[in-house]
Amino acid sequence: MLIDQFGRKIDYLRISVTQRCNFRCLYCMPKIPFNHQPKENLLSFEELFLFIKAAIDEGIEKIRITGGEPLLRKDLSVLIKMISDYKKDLDLAITTNGFLLKDFAKDLKNAGLKRLNVSLDTLDEKKAKQLAQKDVLSSVLAGIEEALNVGLKVKLNTVALKNLNDDELIALLEFAKAKNIQIRFIEFMENTHAYGKLQGLKRDEIIQILSQKYDVKLIKKAEKAPVSLYSANGYEFGIIDPHSHEFCDSCNRIRLSAEGHLIPCLYFDEALSIKEAIRKGDVKAAVEILQEVLRNKPEKNKWSVIDNETSLRAFYQTGG
Ligand code: SAM
Ligand code: SF4
Repeated sequence: MLIDQFGRKIDYLRISVTQRCNFRCLYCMPKIPFNHQPKENLLSFEELFLFIKAAIDEGIEKIRITGGEPLLRKDLSVLIKMISDYKKDLDLAITTNGFLLKDFAKDLKNAGLKRLNVSLDTLDEKKAKQLAQKDVLSSVLAGIEEALNVGLKVKLNTVALKNLNDDELIALLEFAKAKNIQIRFIEFMENTHAYGKLQGLKRDEIIQILSQKYDVKLIKKAEKAPVSLYSANGYEFGIIDPHSHEFCDSCNRIRLSAEGHLIPCLYFDEALSIKEAIRKGDVKAAVEILQEVLRNKPEKNKWSVIDNETSLRAFYQTGG
């Protein structure tokens, strides 16, 4: 079992398989040119799998594959199959922007994937183009349809932004409700890479907007996951509210970047690389690095130390 210095059980590993992305979301990586191909020094699937097996053996029970855009990583379903064959009852999921999902949903399902989260911030074509800096909406919606058709369980992630999608929160909730899937509104997390003029909506503002139409009630406060569950006239939705940082006490997660950095907390820069150890096939050394990272996992994210802290780390690097 993996326990950190504050006695928290760590059983959730988020793995970014690439920093590359086919979108340029204003809140994530607005300034990187599309034709820019950063030279990446990625862990191969075999190297990743060596570490994943060890992490599962140490007590990891949930893995989320993310990015950048994970579906840009060639043959991702091969990695999904490797993991799901190793531990059938592992809670394995992907977070994707959905653009390529129509092509890959079936392969992913056949490889053993059961569920995924798709980011959907707007149902308006023009706004989607403004946010992702690319014409994306129809492909994303087709991807969601295909994922549901092949039997994958889908959740939607929506970053709530002032003057961008604040007038659409009800429509987005209705969209999710009609498809019988859960939507989770995410507070915008300030970071130095995001477009400077963006302003996010905080939890109470999101609730206030939804309350114009629904009777909104809290069902379950965030415990292990940073998502609190609410009911809108009986429909269950989530709000991820990192600004309240109440969930740090029960944080159960650790992150692995595409280049092999183990990151103890999204808002702290301390990270250690397992790449060298894994490249040598020295799994024992990689597990020791994992344990050291857990010893250094901070008690609270930076926002609870300094108010309104802006993270230096980009979401496309850590996987969100
Ligand atoms: N490309 C995939 C996607 O967009 O779903 C996976 C990676 S993305 C970094 C993971 C999640 O982080 C997405 O749901 C995205 O909306 C969210 N995200 C990115 N930047 C964010 C920010 N500044 N604040 C809040 N959420 C953010
Ligand atoms: Fe790409 Fe996801 Fe970042 Fe948008 S949020 S730029 S889709 S990695």
